[in-house]
Amino acid sequence: MRQIVFATGNMGKLREASEILGECIKLITPADIGIYEDIPETGNTLEENSLQKARYIFEHKGCDCFSDDTGLEVDALGGAPGVYTARFAGPEKDFNKNMDKVLSELASQASPVSRRSRFRCVVTLILDGEARQFEGILNGTIANAKSGNGGFGYDPIFIPDEYPDCTLADITEEQKNAISHRGKALRAMAAYLATVR
Ligand code: IMP
Repeated sequence: MRQIVFATGNMGKLREASEILGECIKLITPADIGIYEDIPETGNTLEENSLQKARYIFEHKGCDCFSDDTGLEVDALGGAPGVYTARFAGPEKDFNKNMDKVLSELASQASPVSRRSRFRCVVTLILDGEARQFEGILNGTIANAKSGNGGFGYDPIFIPDEYPDCTLADITEEQKNAISHRGKALRAMAAYLATVR
């Protein structure tokens, strides 16, 4: 069985990736191979950050690994917060403050067309020392106000095209995983892995 390190400490992501990759691949975490520190993310793009995290694991331990990096891109904000999604309202990475900042910057944009946005996830896989990237996109609109109790991050203000009357925080985890940016990027990676097994 192929063993791959997923460069994340987020157990929800690990569960989602394990389900998508299936039983032929054993996923382990950086902690499982003795990496306990925060892996640096200092790039200017999602692609750079994603590659940086996977490279960190490969350069320290030489093993097969993958990482993910996600950004929310809002058209009316010129693609922001983008690579700054986690810390849009400050270094404390407060989800509520981040959402409030997006809502206030879009206050003058009333029409749904001007509130178009997307989550974009870039997964970097390093297999036998070679890096490949996979992208997943979830298109939608920024809501006028927060709604829902599920999910995390910007979920309460993101209305996916697939559920036009709900935010991502209103739908179930299963419904979200089936359409999510991360799910799409991970499934693209899984399809590639199935060809090289
Ligand atoms: P990460 O690269 O997965 O850590 O994501 C960066 C930031 O994007 C997170 O801190 C969240 O604020 C946001 N984010 C990523 N994925 C999602 C999602 O599925 N829903 C809502 N927010 C997300």
